[in-house]
Order: sequence, then C-alpha cells, then structure tokens
Amino acid sequence: MIEPTSPNFDDVLAAAQRLKGHAHRTPVLQSRSLNERLGLQVFFKCENFQRMGAFKFRGGFNALSRFTSAQRQAGVVAYSSGNHAQAIALSAQILAIPATIVMPHDASPAKLAATRGYGANVVGYDRYSEDAMAIAQGLATQHGMTFIPPFDHADVLCGQGTAALELFEEMGELDSLFVCLGGGGLLSGSALSAHAKAPHCLVVGVEPEAGNDVQQSFRKGERVRIATPQTIADGAQTPMVGAITFEIIRRLVNDIHTVTDAQLIDTMRFYAERMKMVVEPTGCLSLAAVIQAAPQLQGQRVGVIISGGNVDLARFAQLLETAPTV
Ligand SMILES: *Cc1c(COP(=O)(O)O)cnc(C)c1O
Repeated sequence: MIEPTSPNFDDVLAAAQRLKGHAHRTPVLQSRSLNERLGLQVFFKCENFQRMGAFKFRGGFNALSRFTSAQRQAGVVAYSSGNHAQAIALSAQILAIPATIVMPHDASPAKLAATRGYGANVVGYDRYSEDAMAIAQGLATQHGMTFIPPFDHADVLCGQGTAALELFEEMGELDSLFVCLGGGGLLSGSALSAHAKAPHCLVVGVEPEAGNDVQQSFRKGERVRIATPQTIADGAQTPMVGAITFEIIRRLVNDIHTVTDAQLIDTMRFYAERMKMVVEPTGCLSLAAVIQAAPQLQGQRVGVIISGGNVDLARFAQLLETAPTV
C-alpha cells in the first residue's frame, strides 16, 4: 500500500478558498464577565452558528467540492447519527450530488427529518447489531458511490481547520487554543492552522473523561481503542482516533485534557445564561477545560472553538435542570 502524504497547511488554505461564499465566517465573541472571573482573555469561535449548526459543514463541503464529475454523478455515501450526516446532506444538496446517509433507526426524529430535508436518501440500521461503516462501504462498492468518513480523511480535516484559520486571521497570535475532540478531524485541522499562523500557540484537545482514548493514545504514542464511551458528549463518543488525524495530533498538538459530564453541563448553563447561546454538550468540551486549567492560563489570550449547537430543546432543558456543581 502507498502511504498517502499527510495533509498540510496549504491544503487548509485551499479548503478556505473552496468554502468562500458557502460556509459562514462565524463570529468571534468574548465575555467580559468570564474574562474577569478567570483572569484571562477568551476568544470564542462560534461554530454553533455555522450552517447546519456545526463546524462539520466545512469538512463535508470541502471533500465534496473536490469530487470529479464521475464521482458527482455516482453520488456520496456517509454514516453518522449526528452532525456529519447533515453536513454531507447539505453539502451534497448545494453541489447537486446525490447523497445516501446511513443512520440508526433510533436517531432523533429531528435529525432524520433534517437529513431528509436536505434531500438525502436515508438508509436505516440497528446501532446495536449492525456496523454502520460496513453498510456505508458496502453501498459505496455496490453503487460506485464515494464514501466520506466523519473525520479520518484529508479533505475533511483540512476543511475543519478553516475555523481556527479564521480565528487566527482575526485575532492574531494566541497563547493557547482549546478544541473539542472526538475522532480528531477538528483538532488536527486546527493544529495545522495554529502551527502556520501562531507557532507559539499551545494546542490542546479536549475529550470526555469517560472516553479518553485520544489521551491514552497520545501518551502511549499509538492509537488505543476503547469501548464506546457513556457520555452526554455524543459527538465525541468515538472508540478510536483516526490514523491520519492522529499522525498530525502526535506532531502538532501539545496536550489532551479531559472533563466530566457535570463540567459540560455547568458550561452549557454558562453559555445559555451569560452568552445567550445554545451549545450542544460536545461543543462545551473546550471551555470546560479552560475553566479547569484557568490557574495555569493566567493573563493568557486563549482561543476556544465552540464546535456545534445541535441539541434537542427538550434534552437541553432536561440537562439544564440538573443541579449545578459550582
Ligand atoms: C463531530 C463533532 C465533534 C468532534 O469532531 P472530530 O473531528 O470527530 O474530533 C465535536 N463537536 C461536535 C459538535 C461535533 O459534531
């Protein structure tokens, strides 16, 4: 097998060109009261305001916009119970590419409806007995469609890296950057941008404590697989980091932190109460870790990527009702 060359910052710049006029340039917000409370300055890159509600539109659109005309005709296939499904469905709709999305039968009705609403063909599967990736790859082989995975793909991770690129373009050098972490697409792309635009910036990935596979992998120097973690951060329930993403994370990321579900809920409450924003549990990872590490970050300029805002309102209300821990 030929080793694919690792994607680099030029590929992130090319992705930014492709996304122009299609992805939102999301706002960078600040909270004065939080800065005073923590003794540092936080710059929030708000991908909860991205199209379809999460950064995943960037990677999905970048990948699909590189299809050849034969690939466009045959279509794209992806699997996801969450934001990648909607990212591929919306990107495919914009680019007039037929899309098939493999989703669990018990995915939330809102997510199934959103994916179908973008014109995608949804194929259901049983998440307890069937392997979504195998189904997606089977459909790809059978129908000549191109399979786009949720994170372990050069075009996907380079698209994701454009959010951090915009943050550095707007704010200049930062002392550290905290990034939500599942399979590592957002983190590896962000690290490529940080390395080029802010070489002194420490890059930290944040995953749920119950699913610290990347932290274990990072310390061991090789990928570690864990059982599917039980956490409210459903966008970070990946059992193992990607091969392409991990190669970049090993080289360019400084540390991996973990936070508990209780810390995520406190952070979700902060966003709702103080910044009037709906942020999904997975999107709360980055700030939860900054709050935890604040004593070590005094006086710093800190970037926080809010990865997404897609959470059922009933679920959101239910989580906020649980008692605060601080
Ligand atoms: C997918 C997702 C993540 C994790 O991204 P990876 O690229 O898999 O690390 C984090 N937050 C949200 C909202 C997501 O949808």
